Amino acid sequence: MANRLETLEGERERREELWMKLIEAGGPSSVSAALLNELKLFYGGRGIWVDKAKTQNVGGSRDGVTVGLLHSGAIYEDDLFEDGAIYHYPTTEVPGRDASEIAATKAAQEFALPVFLSILNRSTGLRDVKRAWVESSEDALKQFKLTYAERRQDQEYKQDSRRDFVVTAPRTKEEKTTNRSKRHPGFKFDVLRHYGDVSCCLCDVRALRLLDAAHIVDVQHNGTDDPRNGLILCANHHRAYDAQMIAIEPGSYHLKCDPKQPSFDELGITKTSIASLSAKPHDDALFWRWERWKHKG
Ligand SMILES: [Zn+2]
Repeated sequence: MANRLETLEGERERREELWMKLIEAGGPSSVSAALLNELKLFYGGRGIWVDKAKTQNVGGSRDGVTVGLLHSGAIYEDDLFEDGAIYHYPTTEVPGRDASEIAATKAAQEFALPVFLSILNRSTGLRDVKRAWVESSEDALKQFKLTYAERRQDQEYKQDSRRDFVVTAPRTKEEKTTNRSKRHPGFKFDVLRHYGDVSCCLCDVRALRLLDAAHIVDVQHNGTDDPRNGLILCANHHRAYDAQMIAIEPGSYHLKCDPKQPSFDELGITKTSIASLSAKPHDDALFWRWERWKHKG
């Protein structure tokens, strides 16, 4: 056990040194691929760089521990946000290698070792490097969530669904007015993870890019990014929900619509209850929304 901890500690120090070297060499922004290769922060032609020679057996991991990840910029632009990023699992024609790289990236999460995310700037060909932590992985979504915090945050807190639910928390004016995806796309990941299902909860849309994480207590009213304050809705049903055309009754989890408004059928709603979902939104959030809906003008 002592040995295992020593190698983990050694690897952590090695990564800190790599980061310092990158900064000394003029990084971490607008760095050439050659410099990353030289430092072995990133290497090779794939999206995930494990540096097996150095990381195999760190913490006893057979597949090694991911060191670098390359984000090619344009394709998944939505996945980059201020304090983190979504990174998609590799899906190449080499399944065994994909699985090994996914395991190595999960090992970085398990051992709380930092990874280096290189984001390609397509116009200059240079890369911006972020030191990140693999905060979570979600096999159903085939995604990792990375955070750029200086130190890894206490994830116990984030993942403990028994913790007290807070319906509202102060939001800055900026948060209330900025575009949803710019604000915090990590919310979508957290909400998808909470429900464990990639599907609109009111219809059969399953295309990830058409699905939104809707706030139940909305951001305008200081609704929090707690995943239990979220629902996965397709773009249409998100709009209908925000327009108060529909509401979910707390307790029964049945969907209600206003008799003066379009019917479920007209709205393309095929699921009129969320009672069968294995995870639920928080009752306090539903209640807040329900009261507003009942008393709407
Ligand atoms: Zn829908």
